Amino acid sequence: MTIMDDTYVPPCANEPEAFLDERLQSPPTRTDMSRAEWERLTQQRADVHRYCAGCPYLVDCLYRAVVEVDVFGYAACTTEADRRQIRRKLGIEIMQPTAGPFASPRTGAGPIDHETVLALRQAHPNDTCIQLAQRLGCSTSTVKRHLRRARQAQSGMSPQESRTPTVEEVLDCFDELESRRIA
Ligand code: SF4
Repeated sequence: MTIMDDTYVPPCANEPEAFLDERLQSPPTRTDMSRAEWERLTQQRADVHRYCAGCPYLVDCLYRAVVEVDVFGYAACTTEADRRQIRRKLGIEIMQPTAGPFASPRTGAGPIDHETVLALRQAHPNDTCIQLAQRLGCSTSTVKRHLRRARQAQSGMSPQESRTPTVEEVLDCFDELESRRIA
């Protein structure tokens, strides 16, 4: 039986900027950075991975971030791309608004409104998702998710499969991630 210390504060709550760093989601190429910057980013990624790996909330946090809430940033030893990969394997999709990692609030002005994203897309039809994200001050994946939701609504697709994966299924997919072996 795991005994939880009620006073435990997970590292993502203490150092949210390290977990919410956009460069962990969309890493710059090596040539875009100085050697020192590259080493700092590599170290940062290793640090957040180690923090999550040692966190008593890891399993709950991973399950929530994969199945229940589409969080922004690094969480439970996964990037946003890792979690999308797990969802693809599980055949699920979630549409909840973006939040921070398990125990910390999202920085900035809160979740981006769906209608705002669509209005901006209409106003700037030639913008890339990256440019739209910069205008909105959110992540590229948030923009893509809203645009995908709009496409699904147009085509009459259901935005979410009703099947709910088990914790074991999520952990099995997590164990298969390439990034699990890197950090
Ligand atoms: S993101 Fe999740 S697993 Fe990582 S430190 Fe925070 S609560 Fe723990």
